[in-house]
Amino acid sequence: MPEKLPIWLDGEIVPYEKATTHVLSHSLHYGVGAFEGIRAYKGVDGRSAVFRLREHMERLLDSCKVALIDVSYTVDQLIEASVALLKHNRLAEAYIRPLVWLGEGSMGVAAVDNEVRVAIAAWPWGAYLGAEALEKGVRLCTSSYERIGIRSHHEKAKITGQYVNSVLAKREAMSAGFHEAIMLDSQGYVAEGTGENLFVVMKGEIYTPPAGASILAGITRETLITIAREAELTVREEALTRTQLYIADEVFMCGTAAEVTPVREIDGRKIGAGERGPIATRIQSDYFDAVRGNNPRHKEWLTYL
Ligand code: PMP
Repeated sequence: MPEKLPIWLDGEIVPYEKATTHVLSHSLHYGVGAFEGIRAYKGVDGRSAVFRLREHMERLLDSCKVALIDVSYTVDQLIEASVALLKHNRLAEAYIRPLVWLGEGSMGVAAVDNEVRVAIAAWPWGAYLGAEALEKGVRLCTSSYERIGIRSHHEKAKITGQYVNSVLAKREAMSAGFHEAIMLDSQGYVAEGTGENLFVVMKGEIYTPPAGASILAGITRETLITIAREAELTVREEALTRTQLYIADEVFMCGTAAEVTPVREIDGRKIGAGERGPIATRIQSDYFDAVRGNNPRHKEWLTYL
């Protein structure tokens, strides 16, 4: 449960209790909304910065465009609002959740004249899959749910209703005692986790499903590809099968919430040595350097408070 901190709602910061919506809000019924997940970290120099805030807000507006939601705020205004909220709530480290949804108006499916509401919430949130997971790795299962295909959803958009697919897969995995699920696409190729992209290490090279696959091509995924190539590691974007995961030397997941989480087991098969491998260790450490302002090459990724 997030801490009950004030929330930015439709242009102003309001107390937590006032950040509400009506039961007849269109998005509650039909799932047409868009959201983001962003993190702010306290840097090595003691200053706080939001990681890749502009890219997240650009994706938010792209998601709205795809979902035909007409937002009246610009990327710059949403950046400003997020920074103002973090300062107001005195948060040095936080998870930031912008949400755009359709409020009251028509109850027909098309929702042509409903009000467009925008909220930004922020609260402290530790490691998404648990602090131990970052060090020891997680146990995954292949989901019985297929990743929705590109003819049925917009894979590059974070549209709220699309997340039913992820919620069902995540709940199924957790109730079977796993940390997370891996979803395959309609052809059986590896797509992604319910809220993470996947990377595989085979013979010293790094592989990840291509951006054109049925995946959200995450901002963390792109960050890791960049820092891996800067470390002179080979990264290939290629279709991957479940078999390749089972026999890989290393597998790790990534996302804004999950950061860089090693995988120690998939469907009862130990992955590599069953612990965080050397490449996952290197990438994880480089990632934390980048988010904490300890990578001089990528200061542009940080928006300081
Ligand atoms: N895939 C899915 C389905 C997600 O929800 C997320 C989290 N936004 C990711 C991948 C990772 O994306 P990012 O690195 O941009 O957080």
